[in-house]
Amino acid sequence: MRDPECVFCKIVAGEIPSASVLDRDNVYAFLDLNPVRQGHALVIPKSHYPTLLDLDPGLAADLLRAQQDVARAVMLATGADGVNLGLNLGEAAGQVVFHAHYHIIPRFHEDGLRLWPQTPYPSQDEMNRLAGEIRARLG
Ligand code: 5GP
Ligand code: ZN
Repeated sequence: MRDPECVFCKIVAGEIPSASVLDRDNVYAFLDLNPVRQGHALVIPKSHYPTLLDLDPGLAADLLRAQQDVARAVMLATGADGVNLGLNLGEAAGQVVFHAHYHIIPRFHEDGLRLWPQTPYPSQDEMNRLAGEIRARLG
């Protein structure tokens, strides 16, 4: 499955060059062209699925295994103390390329990067109400 307009499908096909770090039957990983930090890698299914929600569970498991392996290798190669794994799902969340992909971003102690600004709930009741709304939609 491939989308002729998709930049990541073109990367998988070798039509656009990429700095490859992992190449498996159904999963590919390469360095992001505009990294948050050097070594920032992208892990993608070779087939075209627009978002995480379109992946079947077997492929999602293969992607997770690849993330573990790439995260470990990125940390060893860059000397990073940790990594952030991230996935933008939808335009509002910052997804620009609609071919599902995980970001693996090397992190260092005191690197000054703040990815998740957080705010507490106004009340415990509001937090519990929203948890109930989400539970109800999980069946
Ligand atoms: P998104 O915002 O969709 O989660 O992230 C897309 C990512 O793909 C961005 O971080 C961007 O730098 C990267 N990217 C876009 N086009 C290319 C490309 O042609 N080659 C590589 N290596 N990365 C790309
Ligand atoms: Zn694609």
